[in-house]
Amino acid sequence: MDEKPNFKILLILVCLLILAVFLSLGISWIKPPHTLNKIFKINENYIRPARWWHSACTGVQCFLCPFNCYLPEGERGLCRVRMNTGNKLYTLVYAQPVAVHVDPIEKKPVYHLLPGSSVFSIATVGCNLRCTFCQNWEISQAYPETEKGGIYTPEEVVRDAIAAGSKSVAYTYSEPTVFYEYVLDTAKLARAAGLKNVLVSAGYINPAPLKELVQYFDVVKIDLKGFNEKFYKEVVGGNLRFVLNTLVELKKTGVFTEVVNLIVPGLNDNMDEIQKMCAWIYVHLGPDTPLFFSRFTPQYKLTNLPETPIETLEKARSLAMAAGLHYVYIGNVPGHPAENTYCPRCKRVVVRRYGYRVLEVNLKDGCCIFCGYPIVGIWQ
Ligand code: SF4
Repeated sequence: MDEKPNFKILLILVCLLILAVFLSLGISWIKPPHTLNKIFKINENYIRPARWWHSACTGVQCFLCPFNCYLPEGERGLCRVRMNTGNKLYTLVYAQPVAVHVDPIEKKPVYHLLPGSSVFSIATVGCNLRCTFCQNWEISQAYPETEKGGIYTPEEVVRDAIAAGSKSVAYTYSEPTVFYEYVLDTAKLARAAGLKNVLVSAGYINPAPLKELVQYFDVVKIDLKGFNEKFYKEVVGGNLRFVLNTLVELKKTGVFTEVVNLIVPGLNDNMDEIQKMCAWIYVHLGPDTPLFFSRFTPQYKLTNLPETPIETLEKARSLAMAAGLHYVYIGNVPGHPAENTYCPRCKRVVVRRYGYRVLEVNLKDGCCIFCGYPIVGIWQ
């Protein structure tokens, strides 16, 4: 008689125990990447205080980008590189680039800054977006623990950029927003040393940090990935409206801005949307805003898709020109005539390019040598 209830209690306890084990396993599976600290060592000597956060109820809130991550102790943001330790926010990638290259400026692509010059380019790991077509996913989607970059201070970046003969420093490849503190310190030193600064970004940043940063910048390149909220949400992992807001804020600051749109077949190649995007750029940023339509090549999670047909890029360019934009380029198609810069008035070639090479510059004091029309940009 006494044994039956005991058996039931025992059974319930065993079930609860199994449930607890499953739950804890489940929780550990979905735990954010800070648990990797136990496996891979982050460079504890070079963890630096982050900017743009405040204390929040039992944690901190980062407000560098529109995700405004709330982070309890020990947690990281969506970008994987900003972490709450001791209820303070730290950056895990300060001065730890994983890519350092000297590139032609045309590779960024930036066409209205010192054509034919070289740009010293740096990137750490991390990104706050999740584009399924990312061309640099190996670093943008990596954790600081898994990439060994070594320490490379802002002073060393500037010293080596000058030694390499570069005219500018670019913060590029992954997403410079998430290595903000490193970008800011390096950009200040680079400007003081007479170098230009180029930010190549998806524009997913809040207005206040953006404003602080771009005062040290000469050119900002924004990757406008599409013109459809659903596409942004499902394929990019963000919201279009925040990127548009960044573009409007950049216009207010007056920093020279170029826009690039990578056309992915079947995902963002709707011509009505492209037409709306061009009209928006014309109205909000002005007709002199350089716009690139770049060719997609199968990458990352979209290896099943084909390259963008050249006709699609040409059609998009025609729509942009018809919308009134003066400088519209086709990217990633070496030898295409739309790699050249044409004078909006006399239609002659003012900068002739082939791929990343500049073959001819027909500018004098920033004006077309044939008709004297001023071409926007930084030419000397
Ligand atoms: S920068 Fe990173 S931690 Fe900060 S809000 Fe954006 S994703 Fe979150």
